[in-house]
Amino acid sequence: MSNTTLTGHVAVSRAAGGSLNVRDDLPPTQHYIAGAFDAVDTSGPRTEVVDPSTEQVIAAVPQGTVADVDRAVAAAVAAENDWAGLVPKERSTLLHRIADRIEQNSEVLARLESANTGKPFEVSNDDVAGTVDTFRFMAGALRATTSMAAGDYAENHLSVILREPLGVVGVVTPWNYPLLMAAWKIAPILAAGNTLVIKPSEQTPLTTLKFAELVADLLPAGVFNVVTGLGPTVGARLSEHPDIDMIALTGSVGSGKAVARGAADTLKRVHLELGGKAPVVIFDDADLDDAAVSLRAAGYWNSGQECGAACRILVHESVADSFTRKLVDQVSTFVVGEPGAGDDVEIGPLVSKAHFERVTAYLERAARQGITAAIGGTPLDGPGYFIAPTVLVGVSDGAECAREEIFGPVVTIETFTDEDEAIRRANDVPFGLSASVWTENARRSHEVAARIDAGTVWVNSHLVLANEVPWGGFKGSGYGRDLSIYALDDYSRTKHVMHNHGR
Ligand code: NAD
Repeated sequence: MSNTTLTGHVAVSRAAGGSLNVRDDLPPTQHYIAGAFDAVDTSGPRTEVVDPSTEQVIAAVPQGTVADVDRAVAAAVAAENDWAGLVPKERSTLLHRIADRIEQNSEVLARLESANTGKPFEVSNDDVAGTVDTFRFMAGALRATTSMAAGDYAENHLSVILREPLGVVGVVTPWNYPLLMAAWKIAPILAAGNTLVIKPSEQTPLTTLKFAELVADLLPAGVFNVVTGLGPTVGARLSEHPDIDMIALTGSVGSGKAVARGAADTLKRVHLELGGKAPVVIFDDADLDDAAVSLRAAGYWNSGQECGAACRILVHESVADSFTRKLVDQVSTFVVGEPGAGDDVEIGPLVSKAHFERVTAYLERAARQGITAAIGGTPLDGPGYFIAPTVLVGVSDGAECAREEIFGPVVTIETFTDEDEAIRRANDVPFGLSASVWTENARRSHEVAARIDAGTVWVNSHLVLANEVPWGGFKGSGYGRDLSIYALDDYSRTKHVMHNHGR
């Protein structure tokens, strides 16, 4: 380990600003089943939806029951054959219309997302634009799906390979990108000819319900259904339901395991996009200025509540001090505040009090272990669940903060001495979602990327995504792919039909 000498603890403060009023933007706060929001208010308990910038309650949604899930699944089953029977051009047209409708309502969706999650508008706007692009990509891609060429592979027998929808897909989404993660599931699932029931995170259901409201007149009843509620009831029922053919979850490793267990009895397909702890391997020949600027964005985007965040830096010991200074300089320029404080806000609050307390506890334990904050390291004054953007230095191999998913604006820096050590340590975490390698050496850029056990490896970049390329993990980060034609493959099945033409 090298001793990093820094100019001292740099303070980060919070911009003052106004809270967002979304009262007029709110969707109906009921389940959306068979083409309509439930007309009758269920008398059961509701979950309060909180603005994490102000700690004020902005809505409350029903805690769905097993019976609610069963109604939604019945609606999805009833709609299944007609939706699957549309020719690709017809489904494509409807997906394009959804993209247009989302685009026309970008502002309201971004405002709702910011109020419910605390995201700066830069992030919410990007999420909505990504949602539109996901629907446009899938609307095009579904018309270009192919399977292996047909032919006589056995004498006098013609083989035809068909690609079919699975049926009904259950979807469970997280709170960090509520609308975007929903879109990454909904678009390929519908494109492949399936119907679905989605359960948004109980903390952030508003944009999924708004989506339902916006597309209600575009999709046939029952094709798309929303049941709000808690994971262990609604999510668990979706996992085990005998009429659901596949369950797709984006969330934590614990929820992934619960879903896989719930799906086991019916042997339904399981698609899991789980957590990450992306290693960022910086060699001594890397462009350190460029790396610091890029990692300012990739380490702290969405306040670090990002499964692919560049949160775990492994830097060669000979350039560690120099790189750390450059990164701290970059981080010291962040504007922290609530979304309403202005368009220049880059870091918002964490999503909830519970998550804020979890991240704060990680920082306190790191401090007790002798790990130093070169910048940040503490919560900021309330109201709201703000943590100062933080760089932790003096992090030893295997330290908790460098192994576990903190999921906040916290980046750790470790040092290494040679390439083999860097690769071994990069891979020595239970996750395998994404990673990056920073070097000007062509051999190294290929070889290290090949040896890192992650579903996405960037070279001299981090956190750049596109709808044309797959996203998904290895190891504890799950299996299955979002985005690209690989997602369309995941949400469909192949069938071999063989014709005996020699009789
Ligand atoms: P979470 O696992 O707490 O919740 C995710 C969803 O699962 C929620 O809707 C929740 O209600 C539901 N759930 C909880 N218990 C369940 C159960 N027993 N059965 C069924 N569903 C259940 O995750 P979170 O805190 O909302 O999201 C953050 C996590 O998501 C992080 O670990 C992050 O890395 C991961 N994530 C991964 C990706 C990816 O693409 N790999 C993307 C975004 C977020």
